[in-house]
Amino acid sequence: MTSSILVLGAGMVGTCTALHLQQRGFEVTLVDRRAPGQETSFGNAGLIQQEAVEPYAFPREPGFLLNVALGRGAQVHWHARGLWQMAGSLLRYLHHSHPKRHAQATEAYSRLIAHATDEHDLLITAAGAQDLVTREGFRFVFRSAKALDEASQRAEDLRVRFGVRSEAENTAQLAQAEPALRASLAGAVHWLDPWAVNNPGALVQRYADLFVARGGRVMTGDAASLQVQGKGWSVLTAEGRVDAEQAVLALGPWADGLIRTLGYHFPLFIKRGYHQHYRSTAQLRQPVLDAERGYVLAPMQRGLRLTTGAEFAPIDAPPTPVQLAKAEVLARELVELGEALPEPPWLGARPCTADMLPVMGPAPRHTGLWFNFGHAHQGFTLGPVAGRLLAEMVSGGPTGVDPMPYRPSRFG
Ligand SMILES: Cc1cc2nc3c(=O)[nH]c(=O)nc-3n(C[C@H](O)[C@H](O)[C@H](O)COP(=O)(O)OP(=O)(O)OC[C@H]3O[C@@H](n4cnc5c(N)ncnc54)[C@H](O)[C@@H]3O)c2cc1C
Repeated sequence: MTSSILVLGAGMVGTCTALHLQQRGFEVTLVDRRAPGQETSFGNAGLIQQEAVEPYAFPREPGFLLNVALGRGAQVHWHARGLWQMAGSLLRYLHHSHPKRHAQATEAYSRLIAHATDEHDLLITAAGAQDLVTREGFRFVFRSAKALDEASQRAEDLRVRFGVRSEAENTAQLAQAEPALRASLAGAVHWLDPWAVNNPGALVQRYADLFVARGGRVMTGDAASLQVQGKGWSVLTAEGRVDAEQAVLALGPWADGLIRTLGYHFPLFIKRGYHQHYRSTAQLRQPVLDAERGYVLAPMQRGLRLTTGAEFAPIDAPPTPVQLAKAEVLARELVELGEALPEPPWLGARPCTADMLPVMGPAPRHTGLWFNFGHAHQGFTLGPVAGRLLAEMVSGGPTGVDPMPYRPSRFG
């Protein structure tokens, strides 16, 4: 008999989870309050980050932290209420960012990242989404020779330990590779393996279209209506109540709110981020991270997208796009940015965990309930890997990656 399952949340993670469950014979209903790929998976920098083998640690450099505290720079912004609300999780994040513990997290994280482009490739091909993807890597660009040297050493270290491929470029090589960069920069690290997506929301929609073409159902509904129903679960949708034997929560930054109602208090927090599109005449070939200033410029279908670093604020606090304003000034030093498109800045939130590892596996105290969230800075990258791993666990078969480091029960 076919087993039924609800997947709540149709971002990159939920949509890929639905596809992989469907592939294993489950009757899957994908539920979201919006259309697929309209939230965090819509507004990111569109990078499939095959180079991101190290999860993003809590910065420890005193100078950097002083700047953050004083509100200097574009990299980090904070609301006092946000810091207060997330204080417990942030302290645990600081604890796990100790070099020894970060190295352990990197071991587990890199095992997921290793499959990122291969897993996307299968779905991109099946969904006919090649037109959205460029497979030429992206660059960290550096203004100072010292920062370039340090980054080149780190890149070499990642090559030796994880096989991450990159090329160091000096001023002239960078100018030749990216003639649109008008500032004279010290150089770049060109990561060769990542891919760039020129419309991240559209890629999720294509994956969702594939899911529907293969017989899956996408419904509008509110995950907050999730209830135990007999031996299974139910959720209310625009088309009425839908029952299923099992359910997966893939609610990205909203997961915390829902699991709290089920009695789970995990050390989760969010890092908000903004984007704005510009009518730039600069023809950047690949995305660039202005590494010492902390923002990304990514060529997109709608224009040049500028995305910002981390803002520690409650998920529902009104937008305060001060980082965007600062990053815009810095970006104008690098490229002909042009006018901003006349629309409000986009605001989203990276779903983070204190130990920098996603939460993937069975809910500790609820039968037939599964978690798949907390993919932080790389949820767009990791969606297909996370979807496969979760589906392998639900179907009880062998898993391609050892799921132990990501098990929800590590948080109680
Ligand atoms: C500025 C910025 C830049 C980034 N750049 C990159 C990048 O280049 N590469 C990368 O890999 N990652 C990047 N990320 C991170 C990445 O975007 C996220 O990790 C990823 O999108 C998370 O995917 P998700 O499916 O878990 O969450 P989401 O995409 O947010 O999906 C969650 C879904 O749950 C739905 N939902 C929530 N509550 C309910 C409810 N009550 N009922 C029904 N549905 C509900 C939402 O509507 C949403 O569709 C970036 C993030 C930001 C903010």
